Amino acid sequence: MSDFFATALSRNDIRQLATFIRKVFGYLDVWWIPVELLLDQMVQEFDEFSYEIVPDDEWDDTSVHADTDILGHTIRIRESIYINACEGSGRDRMTIAHEISHYILICVVGVKLCSCRDKRSVLPYNDPEWQAKCLAGELLIPVYKIKSLKETPSVNRITALCGVSYDAAAYQLKKFGGGVT
Ligand SMILES: [Zn+2]
Repeated sequence: MSDFFATALSRNDIRQLATFIRKVFGYLDVWWIPVELLLDQMVQEFDEFSYEIVPDDEWDDTSVHADTDILGHTIRIRESIYINACEGSGRDRMTIAHEISHYILICVVGVKLCSCRDKRSVLPYNDPEWQAKCLAGELLIPVYKIKSLKETPSVNRITALCGVSYDAAAYQLKKFGGGVT
């Protein structure tokens, strides 16, 4: 749970945003988004944006795999996570998509944040962490592509098509119908 409220966004809102991002960067007809190339495209597209690959031995908190500095417009990624993502690890690809999602939601879309006095009152669609998780899932696992198939594919097939973990594919298939969260 985050210490901040964000402007409310439903899964349906975020799904539309994910499709728009795919369109802008030329991935509308693609199942597998190469997140490492998307980072380079973002550098071209967004004036202030940069990303940094940090050697593992210079990374302090091993429980954190990547982070986003909103004020500095920078995503930092641990080197081993970046390399794994380039080699197709679904979990590490999702880590990078998660940070990209934080950046786009706050710095590009301009989702407003305010500090939260009562954590119990933050609902999922107001939570910046939920929003980034949701956008990353919608971005890497496009429901409109799944809908274009004759049958809903298996979790294993989605895992292979989209380059995501089994858990992420299973979760996204459960959210197939959209909704608020
Ligand atoms: Zn996050």
